Amino acid sequence: MTTVATDSVREKALADYRKKLLEHKELEARLKEMRETLKDLTKQYDKSENDLKALQSVGQIVGEVLKQLTEEKCKLKTDTNDTWIMRAEGRKKSYWFLADDWFKADGNGFKTDCLICRHLPREVDPLVYNMSAEDPGSVSFNQIGGLSEQIRELREVIELPLLNPELFQRVGITPPKGCLLYGPPGTGKTLLARAVASQLDCNFLKVVSSAIVDKYIGESARLIREMFAFARDHAPCIIFMDEIDAIGGRRFSEGTSADREIQRTLMELLNQMDGFDALGQVKMIMATNRPDTLDPALLRPGRLDRKIEIQLPNEQARMEILKIHASPIAKHGEIDWEAVVKLSEDFNGADLRNVCTEAGMFAIRSERDYVLEEDFMKAVRKVADNKKLESKLDYKPI
Ligand code: ATP
Repeated sequence: MTTVATDSVREKALADYRKKLLEHKELEARLKEMRETLKDLTKQYDKSENDLKALQSVGQIVGEVLKQLTEEKCKLKTDTNDTWIMRAEGRKKSYWFLADDWFKADGNGFKTDCLICRHLPREVDPLVYNMSAEDPGSVSFNQIGGLSEQIRELREVIELPLLNPELFQRVGITPPKGCLLYGPPGTGKTLLARAVASQLDCNFLKVVSSAIVDKYIGESARLIREMFAFARDHAPCIIFMDEIDAIGGRRFSEGTSADREIQRTLMELLNQMDGFDALGQVKMIMATNRPDTLDPALLRPGRLDRKIEIQLPNEQARMEILKIHASPIAKHGEIDWEAVVKLSEDFNGADLRNVCTEAGMFAIRSERDYVLEEDFMKAVRKVADNKKLESKLDYKPI
């Protein structure tokens, strides 16, 4: 009896012990898990602490080298607008490898890690950058018809001072800074400027003057300054300003605030044109359909030294232009160019190009791969009819 009782007590104790053992194991496992979690949390905490410290500390400073003071020291301007004197350990192309001790220009000693600093280019306004992104393309003088005299004059003003400045120095005259191309629309003013730029293989800034005018006061003048600074940094450079009448109009005393802003822009333009040195490698070409509206200050010699008139092409010139634009077209049979040209009285270069396009369209409509004389005749009549419908533009010679 007693033995049975003792056995049951022992079994109970054993069961309790097993239960406790199980609980202990469970607790041990949880403890291990929690220790792991603690480790992760500590890591996360340390990372957050570091991030916070990084946020509170001064960011990496980029500096532009202004000047080399001595063999070992240089002066640089940081993006925080401080000026620093730094020890330059060596120079490799445009990169500066600088030592680890900094001295602020005001004399406060400063220490930082080794820094590799690069000679940064000047910041360029995106608008000015876009002006330079416009490629003049490969336009040769052969692609311009009937303007040989104008080409000669333009090359003399733009090309000669850029390629042979010593010629002017020898004779003792100041080379021209720029020229104005004026004449009716579509006569090849832009084409001429592009041809000069592409033949010279120099930088080309194409500016549509109306795009410079900004609604904020002072912005347009700033853009003009940026434009000239960019041109000077990227010399030799040609600045081509199309539709110059948008900002170069005659100044008058009254007017709205918008008029005054345009006048301020013109004043900045005049100022910049006077500013760059005569033999500098920056040349200006301006173009307009309305030379009569321009301010006399802009036209005076020393600013725009030469004014080149580009008139509507005469018969001979029209023939040349027509042949230039018809040359890549697949033709069949003889074409009486003179008959086509006779019908193109008062046509400009753009109209003549249009005649070629229309002739091609007539060929396509007749399901042909080539153009016949009759297509050219039909095209020239069509363009002439369209022109009659257009109102005539008010163009006055200078
Ligand atoms: P706008 O005053 O309206 O700006 P523009 O005088 O600058 O006109 P362009 O843009 O140079 O005229 O000419 C328009 C197009 O007409 C040219 O792309 C070219 O195809 C053609 N063209 C004009 N004149 C000539 C020319 N003399 N020889 C060959 N093509 C010409």
